[in-house]
Amino acid sequence: MYSNDNIEKIEKSISLNTSYCAEHMGEKCNYFCFNCSKLICSECAIHGSHHEHKVMNVRKAMPLISGNIKEIKIKVESCSKKIRDLLLEEESKKEKIFEDLNNSKNLLREAIKKIIDSIKRKENNLIEMLDSLMNNYINSYKISLSHLGSKYEEAKNFVEAINCFISNNHIVLINRKR
Ligand SMILES: [Zn+2]
Ligand SMILES: [Zn+2]
Repeated sequence: MYSNDNIEKIEKSISLNTSYCAEHMGEKCNYFCFNCSKLICSECAIHGSHHEHKVMNVRKAMPLISGNIKEIKIKVESCSKKIRDLLLEEESKKEKIFEDLNNSKNLLREAIKKIIDSIKRKENNLIEMLDSLMNNYINSYKISLSHLGSKYEEAKNFVEAINCFISNNHIVLINRKR
């Protein structure tokens, strides 16, 4: 295709008529190949790779070429403008995608933090519940222990009283049996 550089080179070469063929040493590029849109020498035009192409003496072709070239230049310029716009659009899309990704990352982080916080709260609640259950158990254990203690004291006193009673009435009991 035509780049701006290429077009300027062709325009300059035509106006100065200083272009020499790269394939045929010392041959001036006096012809223009319409198929390839480039300047060629007479050797290229007659014997070379362009011999079946549409070629014209550069002086005769000049008005046609410069018209074409201007048209092409406008097309190339509008194409490059479109490409630049597309690149800018892509750039802003890319920035938008990065922004979206970062937002999603932050949302994910916040959501996970909330889950962890709620799990920690649940853990604390459970531990508090277990602590209070354990305290209740220890308290009721202490209560029943002291209850048992007092029952034991009562039983001991009762046994002592019986023993005392038996020893006091020992003789009486034996005498009655006889
Ligand atoms: Zn040549
Ligand atoms: Zn050609």
